[in-house]
Amino acid sequence: QAKELGRNHFRFYTKDMNEQMAKRARLEKGLRKALDRDELTVHYQPQIDLSTGEITGMEALLRWHHPELGVVSPADFVPLAEENGMIIPIGEWVLRRACVQNKAWLDAGLPPMRMAVNLSARQFQQNNLVEVVKQVLKDTDLPPSYLDLEITESVAMFNESYVIAKLHDLKNLGIKISIDDFGTGYSSLSYLKKFPIDALKIDRSFVAEVMNDTDDAEIIATIISMARNLKVSVIAEGVENEDQLTYLRNQKCTEAQGYLFSKPMDALELQSLLVRI
Ligand code: C2E
Ligand code: MG
Ligand code: MG
Ligand code: MG
Repeated sequence: QAKELGRNHFRFYTKDMNEQMAKRARLEKGLRKALDRDELTVHYQPQIDLSTGEITGMEALLRWHHPELGVVSPADFVPLAEENGMIIPIGEWVLRRACVQNKAWLDAGLPPMRMAVNLSARQFQQNNLVEVVKQVLKDTDLPPSYLDLEITESVAMFNESYVIAKLHDLKNLGIKISIDDFGTGYSSLSYLKKFPIDALKIDRSFVAEVMNDTDDAEIIATIISMARNLKVSVIAEGVENEDQLTYLRNQKCTEAQGYLFSKPMDALELQSLLVRI
């Protein structure tokens, strides 16, 4: 009986694997056409200053409306796009789209906000990244201080002197730089001190467990005090309830982002929210 079960289990497992591989192949094929077919959009999620309650920034989050599969999560297709190189044209498209949008909001007289755009490792390693960012700022006429590029710790760890030089080149354009998903990789205070960064974003996995897990609460407190030492802002991601917010406020976290304030929304939806505020 156990053997029987084992065999069934094995068969189920391989079927599952095959399905996953088939889905992957399908996504990969679709991804190559997604840009041309206008299937990509950008959603925006507000970032709130915890001392004033004002919206100080937005994060641009990519969405893919697959013709048959419906909305595909970036968690499923961004890694694929990184592997097959499509993240380069897609990433540039997001950057441009987000800058155009922020410039439109500025021109419409909304309170000025930073626009945060996620940069994948592959984009960061691209030789002409600085030129691309510079060109997009020029084309869209967005003042550079309203653009914020989010890179992950893993990108920052890649090749220290090369990374520092590149970050300085980006900073010299006048933009902001944040470290995303902070706390999930390895970084020391002395290491971070060498990076010209403006903010640390606390990974949402810590925020999710802050009320149940004292280790996560400690990690958050440590990240906030690291940020204070580095004289950079600290943004908590994935804030979903008041208890989490209270903890973050007590620890003097400067900014927060999460469903408690707003889910990511398309530009029009967000615009009506901004006008109401
Ligand atoms: P991320 O940059 O860490 O983005 C934050 C993610 O947390 C987003 O997921 C957002 O929708 C989600 N989130 C925000 N608030 C909450 C909350 O209160 N609760 C929960 N459970 N989740 C919350 P999303 O949009 O699915 O994006 C996932 C990841 O995909 C992003 O993580 C980022 O790494 C990547 N990504 C998204 N857009 C882009 C892009 O344009 N370029 C690149 N390279 N990566 C992107
Ligand atoms: Mg991000
Ligand atoms: Mg993050
Ligand atoms: Mg993430």
